[in-house]
Amino acid sequence: MAGLISPATVSSGDCFSFSPFSRQIPRDFSTVAGFLRVKNGADLHQRMKRAHFRVSGNAEDMSKSRISANSDGSMFKDGIRGARPSKSLGSSEYSYSSGGLEKLDFDIVIIGAGIIGLTIARQLLLNTDLSVAIVDAKGPCAGATGAGQGYIWMGYRTPESDKWELEARSKQLWEEFVQELEASGLEPLKLLGWKKTGSLLVGTTSEESAALQERVKLLSKAGIRAEFFSASSMHLIEPAVEVGKEGGALFIPDDSQIDAKLAVSFIQEKNRVFTSQGRYEEFFEEPAVHFLRSNRKGHIEGVQTSKRVLYGNKAVILAAGAWSCSLIEKMAEELSFPLHVPVKPRKGHLLVLERPQTLQLNHGLMEIGYCNHQIASVLPDVSSRSIVHSSLHSLSVSMTATIDSEGSLVLGSSRQFAGFDCEPEDVVVNSIFERAAKFLPALNKSSLRELLKGGHIRIGLRPYMPDGKPIIGPVPNMPKLMLATGHEGAGLCMAFGTAEMVVEMILGNATKIDCRPFSPKDRCCK
Ligand SMILES: Cc1cc2nc3c(=O)[nH]c(=O)nc-3n(C[C@H](O)[C@H](O)[C@H](O)COP(=O)(O)OP(=O)(O)OC[C@H]3O[C@@H](n4cnc5c(N)ncnc54)[C@H](O)[C@@H]3O)c2cc1C
Repeated sequence: MAGLISPATVSSGDCFSFSPFSRQIPRDFSTVAGFLRVKNGADLHQRMKRAHFRVSGNAEDMSKSRISANSDGSMFKDGIRGARPSKSLGSSEYSYSSGGLEKLDFDIVIIGAGIIGLTIARQLLLNTDLSVAIVDAKGPCAGATGAGQGYIWMGYRTPESDKWELEARSKQLWEEFVQELEASGLEPLKLLGWKKTGSLLVGTTSEESAALQERVKLLSKAGIRAEFFSASSMHLIEPAVEVGKEGGALFIPDDSQIDAKLAVSFIQEKNRVFTSQGRYEEFFEEPAVHFLRSNRKGHIEGVQTSKRVLYGNKAVILAAGAWSCSLIEKMAEELSFPLHVPVKPRKGHLLVLERPQTLQLNHGLMEIGYCNHQIASVLPDVSSRSIVHSSLHSLSVSMTATIDSEGSLVLGSSRQFAGFDCEPEDVVVNSIFERAAKFLPALNKSSLRELLKGGHIRIGLRPYMPDGKPIIGPVPNMPKLMLATGHEGAGLCMAFGTAEMVVEMILGNATKIDCRPFSPKDRCCK
């Protein structure tokens, strides 16, 4: 199967591999001569009525750590170098430019426009009157979000675990979102790819069947509708799936799936409604490169991107997925507050295939082994379902299968630690296909090469946290810098609950669910 993957079968833009710092750092800091510019035509004024441009030179600004004049691009962190604006104007009709870098004021700046960043923006826009800027090195779906399979599932989750409340709350919020759309006469299938297919978590041995039955008890106790099907009963609702005589399935009728790209694009479109009110602005193809820190209190006050300076007067939120660790470490180090956020990129392949005519799936599928392969040490144990290949470092494959909103067969999934590499690998693609064929015998009659002709491969970097939990909340002693990352393989599912929690924290309200398991305290170190 060597050479199975041709460039045409890898979807472009699904993933990218770069060091956010290795490029696009402006080199023209040598002049920081500020000047005031009246915005004729008021385009920016119209967009930015609330997020008005800061007219620097007042006492508060003077205390800010600021990008400054080193010709090698390195930063002065104390005080402002360069000229001040010639006069102070408190009007939003003016923009302030410093050495070609525009400076803009917002209440909140979000770094990363994946599902997490965009849902936080949505929550802020709908539930507060704060202004929001969102920055991305590329754009929405450039990271893990664009690769996600779209399961909004409870079937493989564990009641009473640290994450349970967040998962359950998020699922509830997704459902409320869908109900609102339906109530407005809109079609969630068309807008979000939302399908309430129900889920089947399957096992092939008597031990796995027993584990599935145990799960039914736990989930039912936690209020989730759940049922165990023996192999023969399962065949009645899902004839294409083979689990052997001793196997069985856990059926959750209320589990759903989305198309991440559709959902993100809909959320983005709704966020953009607030642009005309001056409350929302997107800065894409514009990586965040430096933090700005106040001299007075030492707080993070904003972000410098490759093109401008964005102040986040209430908070700067880091939601940069797998890039969060390298990004924050570099940016924090520049300001002399060493900070380690242990998020690692965990590479995943998904195969989007032309569906063989003989293969129909009525539900989302996953093998029970998936529950264990989500959390792993950096070098996972070699189990019967794990493959370790010298050139692959570490890899595990666990079967997931679903039909997407366009009728394609989507097969997953792989996990491996391969740094920021996003190249598709034949050995991984073959392993996913072979694993899926064990459960879906119809695939044995098909050639992967043929099925890939009408499909493609998606690759994404999951933001993995070693303790298996996302990290959400303010950085200790840095209250204006918040983290919302580390959702690994469940960020699509957990996005709405995360966004709700972040906004409650910003507003100083009690959080609806216990936020302590996700606190950065003791999980990122300075
Ligand atoms: C194969 C696969 C299948 C998955 N299936 C599911 C599933 O079925 N259900 C589920 O719930 N989850 C699933 N996930 C997980 C889910 O996709 C992620 O948890 C989620 O997308 C993470 O979202 P995020 O916004 O944190 O990160 P990302 O989507 O990675 O977004 C981070 C963003 O930060 C940006 N960025 C990076 N550096 C900078 C910088 N310097 N400045 C500004 N921006 C920057 C990137 O461009 C990117 O857009 C899957 C993931 C993969 C890979």
